[in-house]
Amino acid sequence: MSAIYNFCAGPAMLPQPVMQKAQQELIDWNGLGVSVMEISHRSKEFIALTEHADKTLRTLMDIPENYHVLFMHGGGRGQFTNVVNNFLGDNGKALYLVNGQWSTAAVKEAVKLVGENNIDQISIVEKVDGLNQVVMPDFSSSTKDYRYLHFCANETVDGIEIFDHINCPWPVVVDLSSTIMSRKIDVSKYGLIYAGAQKNIGPSGLSIVIVRDDMLQLPSLPQSSIMDYSIAQANGSMFNTPPTFAWYLAAEVFDWLTSVGGVSAIEALNQQKAQLLYQCIDSNPFYTNGVANHNRSRMNVTFQLTDNSLDGEFLAQAEKAGLVALKGHRVVGGMRASIYNAMPLAGVQALVDFMKSFAKQNS
Ligand SMILES: *Cc1c(COP(=O)(O)O)cnc(C)c1O
Repeated sequence: MSAIYNFCAGPAMLPQPVMQKAQQELIDWNGLGVSVMEISHRSKEFIALTEHADKTLRTLMDIPENYHVLFMHGGGRGQFTNVVNNFLGDNGKALYLVNGQWSTAAVKEAVKLVGENNIDQISIVEKVDGLNQVVMPDFSSSTKDYRYLHFCANETVDGIEIFDHINCPWPVVVDLSSTIMSRKIDVSKYGLIYAGAQKNIGPSGLSIVIVRDDMLQLPSLPQSSIMDYSIAQANGSMFNTPPTFAWYLAAEVFDWLTSVGGVSAIEALNQQKAQLLYQCIDSNPFYTNGVANHNRSRMNVTFQLTDNSLDGEFLAQAEKAGLVALKGHRVVGGMRASIYNAMPLAGVQALVDFMKSFAKQNS
C-alpha cells in the first residue's frame, strides 16, 4: 500500500509510531499478558500510566501547580454542558463569544440549560475587505458580573483561529479541542481549558479538562456525578470507570510529542505546514480562502475552488493520489485540509503538489 495522507478533521490521524506501538502492545501490555483494555483502572500498572500521563502533559503544556488535569468522558460537547452545570449555579451568568460553528453550538447548549437571561453572546467575526476576521471587543471597562467568558480558540469547521489572549475581568474558559498542544499556550491565563481528544490527543470520547483550583469553588447546578469537576478531581478522574484505552493512547501521544521536541518544536513545524498550504492557495487564482491572515487556522485550512463545479473531480482525483478526507464540512462546503500535529510535512507537500498539478490540468 502506498502512503495515504488523511486530512480528516476528526477523528483525525494519529502519529504512526504511536499506532505501531499500540498495535504491538495490543494483546500484551507491559508484560502482563493481557491488554491495557482488560485490566482494572485501579491496578498499580494503570495508576502508574495515569501518573505518567499527567506528568508528561504538565511538562508539555507547562501547567502550573494550581491547576488540575482531568480525564473525562463526553468529548468536546460534553464540556459545553459541564462548564454550565459546574459554574452557573445560584443564577450565575456567563458571556459567550461566537466566532464559528463550535462556539455557536456551545452557546446554544448553555442557553438550553440556564436560559437566555443568564447567557450573553457577542458575535466577533466581521467581514473586512471581503475577508472574515475576528474583531475583539474591549472588555477592560466592563462592569458586568460574569462567572466566566467562553470562547473557541480554533473554529475547526470555519478555519478561523484566535491567537491572541483575551483581556477581560472574568475567568476565561476556552475550547481548545482542535488546537491544544499545536502551539504554546499560557495556561495561567485561563480559568479552564478543555479539549475533545480526537484531533490532537487520541481517540474520540475522551476529553481533557485543565481547571484552576479556585474555579472548583464556584456554585454548581444539580448535575450527574460523573460530570462533576470536583468529584472528578477528588477521585483522580476515576469516580466511575474512565475510558482506559483512550487514556493509554493519549499517554502514548504525549510521549511521542515529547520525543519530537515538545510543543515549541511542533509549533514551528505546524507554522511551516500551514504556510506552505496557504501560500499555494494565495499564489494560484484557482483556489481561494476567505479568512484574514492573522485569523487563518494552522490546524484546519479551508479553501474553495474558484470553479466549484470541479469540486467532485478534485476530491476524486485527490483520493486516487492518496490524499483523503479533504471535503469541507457540510455546512460550509468547499475543501478543508486538517493538518494537526500528527500530519507530517511530507503530507502537506504531497497535497500542495497535487493542488498545483490539478490547477494546471484544469485551467
Ligand atoms: C470537534 C470539536 C468539538 C466537538 O467534539 P465532540 O467530541 O464531537 O463532542 C468541539 N469543539 C471543537 C472546537 C471541535 O473541534
